[in-house]
Amino acid sequence: MDLNDNLDERAFRLAVREFLDRNLPAGWGNPGYALPGGDAYAAVAADFQRRLSAAGLLCLSWPQKYGGAGASTAQVAIFNEELSRRQAPQLPNVAGVMLAGPVIYTFGSDEQKRRYLAPIRACQEAWCQGFSEPGAGSDLAALRTRAELRGERFIVNGQKVWTSFAHRADWCMLLARTDPSAPRHRGLSLLLVDMKSPGVEFRPLRHITGAVEFNELFFNDVEVPRRNLVGTINSGWRIAMTTLMNERGGTGMAAAARLQSVYAILTGLFRAIAEQNPNPAAGRIRRDQMAKFYIEIQSLRYTARRKLMETQDDAAAAAASMIKVIWSELSQRMHDFALELQGPASQLIEGSAATIQNGRWQFDFLRSRGNTIEMGTSEIHRNTIAQRGLGLPRSR
Ligand SMILES: Cc1cc2nc3c(=O)[nH]c(=O)nc-3n(C[C@H](O)[C@H](O)[C@H](O)COP(=O)(O)OP(=O)(O)OC[C@H]3O[C@@H](n4cnc5c(N)ncnc54)[C@H](O)[C@@H]3O)c2cc1C
Repeated sequence: MDLNDNLDERAFRLAVREFLDRNLPAGWGNPGYALPGGDAYAAVAADFQRRLSAAGLLCLSWPQKYGGAGASTAQVAIFNEELSRRQAPQLPNVAGVMLAGPVIYTFGSDEQKRRYLAPIRACQEAWCQGFSEPGAGSDLAALRTRAELRGERFIVNGQKVWTSFAHRADWCMLLARTDPSAPRHRGLSLLLVDMKSPGVEFRPLRHITGAVEFNELFFNDVEVPRRNLVGTINSGWRIAMTTLMNERGGTGMAAAARLQSVYAILTGLFRAIAEQNPNPAAGRIRRDQMAKFYIEIQSLRYTARRKLMETQDDAAAAAASMIKVIWSELSQRMHDFALELQGPASQLIEGSAATIQNGRWQFDFLRSRGNTIEMGTSEIHRNTIAQRGLGLPRSR
C-alpha cells in the first residue's frame, strides 16, 4: 500500500495548508486557545465555516452540478486530514454539509435540490438529524415518532433525543413512522421539517462537559407539507442507512490526524511533567505508554487508508466500524492518560491559576466519553465487524 501522495495530491495538500495558514486565527490549536462549547470557539467556528464557503471548500465532496467542488475521495481524505491536523473547529452546520446535503442531492426531488442545497453552501441555513428517540437508538427501527399523511400534509407527533445542534438548526432531517402496520423497517419515511413550524419544541441537554450540544426535540401536531418527503413514502430506512454510512465513513483519516495532533500536545505535557517530577521508574512506564499510543495511531492511519480502497460494501462497512471503534476508544485512553500524568492537578478545571493548559484536557476527557456512543456505539460496531467483516452469524 502506498501511503504517499501523488503529485496532484501533494499540490492539493499544500493548497489546503496554505488556506488554513491564512484562515485560522494566529495561535489556533495551541493548548487552551479556546475550549469547544464556549463563545470564543463558536465565533471562530462560524467564521471559519464562512471562509470555507467563500473559497468553495465547504461542500468539497458534493458533485459540481450541485454546487460542490466534485473532489475525489483521496482529496476529501487529505482535506479532512489537514483540517484535523490543525484542529480546525468543528463546523456549526456539519449535519447540513455532511448529511442533509448528500441525502437531498442523492434522493431528493428537483424542487428540493433547488430549495435546500444553495443555503447550505452559503451558510444561510443549518440542519440537525432527528433520528434517535428515547426508545430507539441502536435499534433505530423501533422508532415511534408518527407522521400521518392527511391530504397534502403529514401530521407529526413524537419525541426525538440527543439531537445535536437542534437549538440552532433551521431544518431537521426527521425519520418518522408513516405506516405502523408495515414491518418496522418498511414503514419509515424521511421528512424535511422546518424547525420554526408550530408544535416543534426543543429542550437543550447539557453535556457532562457543561456545554450544550444536543437536545430533546418534541413534535406536537406539526404540519409538514407532502413536498418535504424525501424519496418515496416508506422508503426512509434505505435513505437513513445511507446517511449513517456518510456519517461513519468520513471519519478515518481525519480521526487519525486529530489523534496525531492530540498526541503532539500530549508529548509536550509529558515532557513538562517529566521535568518537574523526574522519577525514572514512572518515566519508563509512561514512555512505554506513549510509544504504544504512537503505534496505535499509525495503525489507525493505515487502516483508514486501506478503507479508501475498499470497493465491496461489506468490507467498507466493516472497515468504517473498525476505524470508529479504534479512534473512539484510543481517544478515551489518551485522555485518561493525560489526566493521570497531571496527578492532583487533574482535578482542576478551567479558570484556576493552577489549571494545566487552561483545562483543555479535563474538557476533552469529559467530551471523549461520548465518542464511543455517538455515530453508533462500540458494541454495535463490533457486531458489524463480526457479521460483515468476519462473516460470523448474527446473535439472537
Ligand atoms: C454526543 C452525541 C451526539 C449525538 N447526536 C445525535 C444526533 O444529532 N441525532 C441523533 O439522532 N442521535 C444522536 N445521538 C444519539 C446516538 O446515535 C445514540 O446515543 C446511539 O445510537 C446509542 O443509542 P442509545 O443512546 O439509545 O443507547 P442504546 O441503543 O439504548 O444502547 C444502550 C447500551 O446497550 C448496548 N446495545 C444496544 N443494542 C445492542 C446490541 N444489539 N448488541 C450489543 N450491545 C447493544 C449499546 O452498545 C449501549 O452500550 C448522539 C449521541 C451522542 C453521545
